[in-house]
Amino acid sequence: MDTCGSPPPVKRNRKSPTDNEEDCMGIRAVLSDEYNEIALIKVHSCQLETKQQLQSVIQELSQKLPRLQHLKRVHDRNVLICATSEIGDAETLEEHLQRYAFSAKVLQALCHQVQVVEVPARMPKLRVQYEQMMQHWPCKFHPNHYSESLRNGSNFSISQRVFHKRMAQLLAKLSRDVNKDRPVGICVDPRQSRIVSIAGASESYGHEHCSMLLVDFVARSQQGGALRSELSFVEDQENAETTLRGLPKAYYDYLKENEAYQDLQFGAEMSRKGQPQQQVLLDAEHAQGGDNLSKYGPYLCTGYDVYLLQEPCLMCSMAFVHSRAKRIFFLRPSDNGALVTRFQLHSVKELNHHYEVFQFTTDGSLT
Ligand SMILES: [Zn+2]
Repeated sequence: MDTCGSPPPVKRNRKSPTDNEEDCMGIRAVLSDEYNEIALIKVHSCQLETKQQLQSVIQELSQKLPRLQHLKRVHDRNVLICATSEIGDAETLEEHLQRYAFSAKVLQALCHQVQVVEVPARMPKLRVQYEQMMQHWPCKFHPNHYSESLRNGSNFSISQRVFHKRMAQLLAKLSRDVNKDRPVGICVDPRQSRIVSIAGASESYGHEHCSMLLVDFVARSQQGGALRSELSFVEDQENAETTLRGLPKAYYDYLKENEAYQDLQFGAEMSRKGQPQQQVLLDAEHAQGGDNLSKYGPYLCTGYDVYLLQEPCLMCSMAFVHSRAKRIFFLRPSDNGALVTRFQLHSVKELNHHYEVFQFTTDGSLT
């Protein structure tokens, strides 16, 4: 089985189009292809002979061939009919259109000066895409402030950015000082910037996927956890309001004894298992998002941020999908990484949960 982040990659991961954007202070959002590419499709268009044809052509087209709604149907008297892919190999456009029972008048108009044009395949997500797509064919666009902020890096406040980068430094330091340079992961409850759990890849588990351990240690903080661990974990004080059960002692003690980390907050909100609200969430298996963490209490990694020294492999990336992590931050690309290097798991629409992915662009030797 491949391991996560071992051996370290020799070269940087391939560049994605967002790399053209200036790295905004060391963290970049890894946006899915939909945000990067300008996908085009081939579409049949015809040219109207007179303006008078317009109304009946558009009316019948929107009833009988209602696709292409993200596009302006008419542009300079050229009308979009349908994608070339919709027409069978042994079929002409006219034969295809006859199946839809157009009126003779409209059918004739649609078959006049037919040509194939390349137009945007879907609605743009970002203004920059919109501007490029408009050069091909006019399309609709609903500007989204949050999407734009992800792209230009203004989605984080300065204090958030400082905290994220501090976690990146912590990963490098914990790996070096506590885990023999092996990968490390940290899970944080972003509501109070509290460290819920820390896990390091270890040989004693027979694999080196620290993300799998991290998910399990987070479950420990919720009175779960399936792995029999040889590590000793921090025990909770009586009447504690948060739980430290997800934290191996080695990491916790190291940070507690280190002057530079006295201000770090630790602990997870106590599990509300057995309380009626928890059942609501368990029933609503597909519930997502940070709000549910406040509403229903801790449930797997719901609403939590995950910081990883190495980009996770496919198995680990899937584990964070299943455990419903909110955001994944990673410092170094891995040869078998599934978020940037080999694959963009968070771009897969069919998955029932999607986290956001951020890559630290600052050098990994941050200590
Ligand atoms: Zn892995």
